[in-house]
Amino acid sequence: METKYLTQNEIETAAAILREGGLVGIPTETVYGLGANGLDTKAVADIFTAKGRPQDNPLILHIPDADWLGRYCRDIPDTAYELARCFWPGPLTMVLPRRDNVPDVVTAGLDTVGMRCPGHALCREIIALAGVPVAAPSGNTSGRPSPTTAQHMLEDMDGRIHAIVDGGPCGVGVESTIIDLTCTPPRLLRPGGVTLEQLRQVLDEVEVDAAVTRQMKAGEKPKAPGMAYRHYAPKAPVTVVAGDPYRSAAYIADHAVAGDGVICFDEYISLFPEQAGQGYVAGLGRAVDKEEQARHIFDALRGFDHTAVTAIWAQCPDTGGIGLAVANRLNKAAGFHIVEV
Ligand code: AMP
Ligand code: MG
Repeated sequence: METKYLTQNEIETAAAILREGGLVGIPTETVYGLGANGLDTKAVADIFTAKGRPQDNPLILHIPDADWLGRYCRDIPDTAYELARCFWPGPLTMVLPRRDNVPDVVTAGLDTVGMRCPGHALCREIIALAGVPVAAPSGNTSGRPSPTTAQHMLEDMDGRIHAIVDGGPCGVGVESTIIDLTCTPPRLLRPGGVTLEQLRQVLDEVEVDAAVTRQMKAGEKPKAPGMAYRHYAPKAPVTVVAGDPYRSAAYIADHAVAGDGVICFDEYISLFPEQAGQGYVAGLGRAVDKEEQARHIFDALRGFDHTAVTAIWAQCPDTGGIGLAVANRLNKAAGFHIVEV
């Protein structure tokens, strides 16, 4: 099929395609999503085919307004409305008990559903115009780094989806925070743009799922099925070097050879003249600016797939604030191959 490239002025077309059961690349503030009518079983099944996504990995339902929550969820706790007041529209997904009108294919058969009201105004307009909840995972081929520009998404999805709306680069750059509200205390399943510290200001207690910080063992099942999979990985293997930025940069400078790729904080780019000369150094942003690092992490990982690098070294921020999300994506890209310095 031919993938239509749509501008911000053509969202009526995008909404019509969604209503008619087609697949549309949609901009959000986190990453680009691969959207379909979340009530249309066939359209949702097509998402899994286009991505090569395992059938047991559920999708998130996107709604244009918190008022829609009750249409698709039941037994909604007060904390959900409180979180919606504080963080919606925005990069927070809440896992809640689902109603029967949500197709099994969306939730991979679970009796819960992930719900999000995106912070990207154009995205909410598309969903409101379509008049249906939009099921959307990240718009990458399964396993690859998530797309943060329309161009990235086309690298993976050109010819596999009906259209893509170019809403510019994503402002957050990592996927939504996922919080499970069906357990006590609520549990953080995936770190993202809404930080653990922010959640703890609203909720008395938040547990952090083990899958956020370590590799799942054989047979171990994380509560967010997607966290079980190798993810975000560029073609070359990644080694994360964690610890004080000065020491991690020095460690990489000692160990990287010509032909290796380096992902580092901007201050340390000059330590890698040889790799920089080959175009193999990706600056993430300044060491203190974790928001900037979040915006660049997937771009950096993806960029190396256009090169001949055979190994990638990456500096990693500490886990405060959105650093927890950046570290999680890097560690997963590395298959938790982490050197602490
Ligand atoms: P993606 O949109 O590609 O980031 O994928 C959605 C993520 O949300 C995956 O990691 C899923 O496992 C997770 N997810 C979606 N629905 C649920 C649910 N009902 N319970 C737990 N995790 C979920
Ligand atoms: Mg994804």
